Amino acid sequence: MLSEEAGKNISQWIGSAKKVAVLTHTNPDGDAIGSSLALALVLKKQGIDARVVIPDGLPDFLRWLPGIELSTTFAYKKEKAIEVIEGADLIFCLDFNDPDRINGVKEYLLRSTAKKVLIDHHQNPVRFTDISISETWRGSVGEMIYLFLKEVFVEDVLDKDIATCLYVAIMTDTGNFNYASSYPEVFHIVGELMNYDLEKDRIYSNVYDAFSEDRMRLQGYCMQEKMVVLPKFHTAYISLTDEELRRFNHRKGDTEGFVNIPFSVKGIRFTALFVEKKDRIKASFRSRGKFPVNRVAADHYQGGGHINAAGGDSFLSMEETLKQFQSLLPEYARLLSDT
Ligand code: 5GP
Ligand code: MN
Repeated sequence: MLSEEAGKNISQWIGSAKKVAVLTHTNPDGDAIGSSLALALVLKKQGIDARVVIPDGLPDFLRWLPGIELSTTFAYKKEKAIEVIEGADLIFCLDFNDPDRINGVKEYLLRSTAKKVLIDHHQNPVRFTDISISETWRGSVGEMIYLFLKEVFVEDVLDKDIATCLYVAIMTDTGNFNYASSYPEVFHIVGELMNYDLEKDRIYSNVYDAFSEDRMRLQGYCMQEKMVVLPKFHTAYISLTDEELRRFNHRKGDTEGFVNIPFSVKGIRFTALFVEKKDRIKASFRSRGKFPVNRVAADHYQGGGHINAAGGDSFLSMEETLKQFQSLLPEYARLLSDT
């Protein structure tokens, strides 16, 4: 994964670093947090003062992760987060490839004179680090961190806590090995992680059986009242207004995974979730097979992502957004029936 020169430089930077900041993207998911904590825990074991900076809200289902005390959320503890970034002599950027994905953290990252290393698996990376390890075919950054650690450290630096973080990263970014994992290496890596007394069933339960009653009711409401199925286009979508979210005492992360719900309907290959935010409507897209949702996101929602998972924004009203979404489906009809 690393060229000889990159490997040498990174080893040297880690070797001489006193303080390291690990940054990840806004609205962080299991891969973002799991990968970042795993790397920070390894560096801490090397005697380095390693910290993770998250731009905004950490979802509840990840708060139990080992090493979580190493993280600071920029949106809540801005001064502390800035101090971590400004004090770092080495910065890792994980699970994002464009400084625009880290909101207000961006200016501090770009301003920093620390060495910067990107480790990411999203398409079309922007160049803003000294070294960029971009492997877009990988299902998760968790996997990449595992391989990265193997290359950078001669000795075994993993332990149960670090393996747990990496497993959460891989498990969540592959939808529990449901997608983005159709190649043997993922399972080889997971097999290796199992050697560290990994409690895989407990981890699953911590992540997936951790919803509040409100969240569960919101999911039921989405399925019963809000899911629109368009069999002709193999498409289904769900939308949620701010009022609806408030009715269900919405908390950050509650809509996580809702975009996948309609795939349980036979024949659905393309799904969308539209969630009203303060100043925009956040659109999430998923597909099965070859339908490129990143193209939809880039063409119509100023966004991007992977072939099967992408997102963007709409600045129309919810009603207009949904109307527009339906109206652009004929454009993709052939692709949708082919895949
Ligand atoms: P989600 O639907 O979970 O928010 O995002 C899924 C994937 O779509 C992300 O991993 C990211 O690659 C991409 N994505 C989501 N929102 C945006 C966006 O606003 N801009 C870009 N470029 N990519 C996005
Ligand atoms: Mn990821």
